[in-house]
Amino acid sequence: MSRRSLAQILATIFVSGVAIAVAPTVIAEPEVARQTRTPTQTVEFLTNLGARTPNSSASEAALVYLRHAYEQVGYETEVQTFQFHNDRQGTARLTVGETELSGNVVLGSIVGQRLSKLVRVAGTGTRQDFVTADVAGAIAIVERNQTTSTELLIEHAEAAGAVGLVLVQYDFDWEFDWAGIWEESPAGETSIPVMVLTKKASETLEELLAESKQDGLIKTQSPWEMVQGKNLIARSPNAIVPRIVIGAHYDSVPRSPGANDNASGTAVVLELAERLQDHPLVDWVWFVAFDAEEVGLMGARALIASLPYQTTLQGMVNFDMVGKQDNLLVSGDPLMTDLAKETVPSISVMRDHGVSDHFAFKAKDIPVLMITRGLDTDWHLPTDTTVEPVLLEETVDAAEQIIQVLLQDLLLPE
Ligand SMILES: [Zn+2]
Repeated sequence: MSRRSLAQILATIFVSGVAIAVAPTVIAEPEVARQTRTPTQTVEFLTNLGARTPNSSASEAALVYLRHAYEQVGYETEVQTFQFHNDRQGTARLTVGETELSGNVVLGSIVGQRLSKLVRVAGTGTRQDFVTADVAGAIAIVERNQTTSTELLIEHAEAAGAVGLVLVQYDFDWEFDWAGIWEESPAGETSIPVMVLTKKASETLEELLAESKQDGLIKTQSPWEMVQGKNLIARSPNAIVPRIVIGAHYDSVPRSPGANDNASGTAVVLELAERLQDHPLVDWVWFVAFDAEEVGLMGARALIASLPYQTTLQGMVNFDMVGKQDNLLVSGDPLMTDLAKETVPSISVMRDHGVSDHFAFKAKDIPVLMITRGLDTDWHLPTDTTVEPVLLEETVDAAEQIIQVLLQDLLLPE
């Protein structure tokens, strides 16, 4: 562990005297009429809302549902709003005759429009391929490929005098995963508008070119917009500063209702909160439904940035995609994964890929435990609509055991 060890963190906490308030007595909250809601019912409700992208009506409805659910089991809630730059979908158009083809601007592209003839570049888009195709003064069309990076395709197009560049794709629909394009994007700003078409739009363009439609208008807009995100924080009425955060993101990617990614994790955290509400150490725990995980862990970053006492955080337990696939997997801090494995031997420890909210906490030296069942074939697709109820229950049972031990070990070390 290159960062501070858990023991050092524990030592710090004790020295700072925070431990004095470790075992607050829990004042039993008046029992409210609890509407028994299973994790599966929560997943169904959230999934039926459709894609829960930040600042959408589905996201707002999810927040209201979760807030009500936490308050019903006796927690106080806070909606934490934050602003962030979000990439916009559908920020580029290629108009060919009467047909308008939608796609996305490539990060780093100038914002603008060009009308010119369309020229198809063969091969993998080497410097020579662009010259051979004679794209000078034209809008070049080239297939996105693994051989020549997006950055080089842009460079070759600019060098050959193209006035615009359209990336097409046939073998894989990047519609739901723009990251691949962003990573390869040019460091600085391009000198020509550059866009990528979806697989479907690429096929339509091929047909139009076959009908010898020659001219096209490429139009790109800014890929960014300022968006408001909303985290939901639930804590017991006597809560003090958070020492443990237990969380999951409730947002989803566009066009995917996100049953497994990540209504499943959101539902598990709600159920754990219900089960732990009478736990003697629950006053040190914040249960969080994070927003905007899918666009860069924005909710997790906002929560950390808002915490005055970052150093009091002794651990973060994150749930992402726990409703499908038999194996329950953990990753993160070795001390945390060892503890989890000891407590529930049936789980498997995997290398941390850091692609979820816990990574923002890890980056701040906070020990993290990621609980997941891994990616499934419906990941980020419109078909991510169902989960296995028995796997959700199993996740809650295993997690409850692990968290009981974690709270004991972290907050009441011998
Ligand atoms: Zn996720």
